[in-house]
Amino acid sequence: MTTNDHQRVRRGMDTDSIHKDLQDHLNFTLAKDQEGASQLDFYQALAYTIRDRLIDRWLQTRKTHKKNKVKRVYYLSLEFLMGRVLHSNVQNLNIEKEVRSAVEEHGLDYETLRNEEVDMGLGNGGLGRLAACFIDSMATLNIPAYGYGIRYNYGIFRQEIEKGRQVEQPDDWLKWGNIWEVPRNNLQFQVNFGGRVEMGKDDKGNLCPRWVDAHPVIGIPYDVPIVGYGGKTVNTLRLWTAHAHEDFDFEDFNKGDYINAVEHKVTAENLTKVLYPNDLHYLGKELRLRQQYLFVSCSLQDIIARFKDECDDWNEFPDRVAIQLNDTHPSLAVPELMRILVDEEGLGWDHAWSLSLRTLAYTNHTLMPEALEKWSVELIEKLLPRHLQIIYEINQRFIKDIAAKFPGDMHRIGRMSIIEEGEHRQVRMAHLAIVGSHSTNGVAEIHTELLKERVVPDFAAMYPERFNAKTNGITQRRWLLDCNPDLAELITETIGDGWITDLKQVAKLKPLADDRAFCDRFAQVKFAAKKRLSDFMNAEWDWETDPTWIFDVQIKRLHEYKRQLMNAIHIVILYNRLRKNPDMDFHPQLFLFGAKAAPGYFMAKLIIKLINNIGDMINRDESVRHKLRVHFLPNYRVTLAEKLIPATEVSEQISTAGTEASGTGNMKFMLNGALTIGTMDGANVEMAQEVGRENMFIFGLDAAEAKALSENYDPYAYYQQDEEVREALDLIFSDHFSILERGIFEPIRHALLEGGDRYLLLADLPAYRAAQEEVQRIYKDREEWTRRAVLNTACSGKFSSDRTISEYAEKIWGTKPPRK
Ligand SMILES: *Cc1c(COP(=O)(O)O)cnc(C)c1O
Repeated sequence: MTTNDHQRVRRGMDTDSIHKDLQDHLNFTLAKDQEGASQLDFYQALAYTIRDRLIDRWLQTRKTHKKNKVKRVYYLSLEFLMGRVLHSNVQNLNIEKEVRSAVEEHGLDYETLRNEEVDMGLGNGGLGRLAACFIDSMATLNIPAYGYGIRYNYGIFRQEIEKGRQVEQPDDWLKWGNIWEVPRNNLQFQVNFGGRVEMGKDDKGNLCPRWVDAHPVIGIPYDVPIVGYGGKTVNTLRLWTAHAHEDFDFEDFNKGDYINAVEHKVTAENLTKVLYPNDLHYLGKELRLRQQYLFVSCSLQDIIARFKDECDDWNEFPDRVAIQLNDTHPSLAVPELMRILVDEEGLGWDHAWSLSLRTLAYTNHTLMPEALEKWSVELIEKLLPRHLQIIYEINQRFIKDIAAKFPGDMHRIGRMSIIEEGEHRQVRMAHLAIVGSHSTNGVAEIHTELLKERVVPDFAAMYPERFNAKTNGITQRRWLLDCNPDLAELITETIGDGWITDLKQVAKLKPLADDRAFCDRFAQVKFAAKKRLSDFMNAEWDWETDPTWIFDVQIKRLHEYKRQLMNAIHIVILYNRLRKNPDMDFHPQLFLFGAKAAPGYFMAKLIIKLINNIGDMINRDESVRHKLRVHFLPNYRVTLAEKLIPATEVSEQISTAGTEASGTGNMKFMLNGALTIGTMDGANVEMAQEVGRENMFIFGLDAAEAKALSENYDPYAYYQQDEEVREALDLIFSDHFSILERGIFEPIRHALLEGGDRYLLLADLPAYRAAQEEVQRIYKDREEWTRRAVLNTACSGKFSSDRTISEYAEKIWGTKPPRK
């Protein structure tokens, strides 16, 4: 081998080097020959080959950051919904052509190999996907950053549909190994649980608390390289696993109780076994609190070790470290950072508090009361006795501040206290996070306003300067470049490729909305995507999808507030109309749903069953199936979203106004030229500002109207008032769609008519129906439809996570990216 060859091994970006290394990994890493290798083996060999090409840059990034004494951003999130990573790494390294040729020279098909990769599904929905988009943007913007998370052995469950009902299967995503991670077995952090606090004295005779008799667990990190577009920066996603401490059950071993000792070892290792599959819903389970603390403690110990390695002046801590808390899930960071600084590092309280406050920032993700975390004082005292003391101390000082600012207002103190008093005292984690951070941000403009007005008004009054809005975004690399190559190519051909790292540039497409030739090509690209999706679905599930239909898609977690049920009831209205008048003027419309429900969320699971039953009936009914079809796609996840979004024409974003914090699915569709049917909620409001309300199908109550109506709402009146709505509901509750399971939809009837219809479906249904009629009307005018579709793509520039991250960097973290 020549020196030149040596330089290319594991590094060369040309087809030939990639081809050779693929062969080498197959032979030497996987011990397979060409004949004996499966597609999975080839995928793994390819993944190793790509991973190799990240390593130099990864090491170089770390070295540069250390040398330049940079400020690092630490994004703490219990969820990272990454999806597949092979192709996005290939794209960000700009070697797609070379990889395709190398793979073809082996007689293989790149798409087939890509399909061997299982999603990295370490999240529930929007919150986890946001974290994944953010780390892509941070690497692309060359911001020195770490994502910190948990390496769950089981990610979000795999959803099967049996007889129309959701069945959860374990997501054993590590079964065949995970090529993208590097275990760091030599890096171990001890994390304590339980025990008690003793008051000891230090050398100078000062009282100092000592946490004793605790049960230690070990956290070990697995690192995943995160390459930015262009390959300049490779940051790290560091995921923690729990292991038993070697003398965890020293006593049991000494007593000769081997089995008991090993059982305890298993208990420790169970900590990071499974992701809690509840999206925006707080449960209060002990194992979850243990996960949160293990995660927070390991991450902070690691951050502090890195800081101390580079700097010996604690005053510089906030200049070197910015910690962003993704929701309250990691909010134990507030007392844990104080504990480390005060108890372990010996800083005075006030000094430690000042550093901690300047370092931590908190993102709120929801207005829904059931999502707000409140841990029982009793449980925290049992697991984290020292932290409870610290929380009490923080609270005492905080209450003094309230009393100073609002003298004599005892009610205010009760409302704002970090501790909720009562029979079962609880720690309000959002209060703790706000008090302990210099920044609290909402995830869209409207969300931030409602957060300040409705959820924590006392905090907004006390700390107005802490509150700010950071409208969410999505990475256009995954959500256009990778998942919709035809549209990406059309855009690049038309305006150049600057949009890949500067999405604002898609605004150059605006004038082309009136250019006949461009619009024709845009429409062709959409049709090709619909055809591709149809072929996929027809092959996978034996459907008979026709790509000339309107593709109307609602994909997101199943929640009552997201109102999949309203969509379903409207479909029944269409069904009734078509049964009465099969020849009515109606462009055939395909309704697609994808959604996982939390396993314990009864109503959400029943709505899945209803959608499936409605679909079964409609899709078989000869009098309507020529114009109406309904399908529920099982196992909605990132990879399925990537197939659906390019083919979507109507994007369903129909939450009750004032409930969806931002939404990010809405942005993915807009970017790909779908028209939104939606309420003035979350980021829809800002989408309307960008593209113009007239280029969306906005309908229904706004947030103020919804709140006003809720206070005096009689769903029954709406039911009686509207004949079509009444007939649709009567049909559902007459068991038309559940002849063999009579009465199963009774809880839905109850929730709507007697339970008060919390999400105002019946109030908004007539407006939703009218908006769908407008969809039908505009769709007939193919030119007008395409004009609006082009404008949606052209006006989506604001919704890049690059923009979001730049705002966080400038306004919260104080880390202007070093210019390229
Ligand atoms: C984007 C995304 C979400 C969030 O969708 P919303 O419509 O904003 O709730 C959830 N799940 C997956 C897999 C996603 O890609």
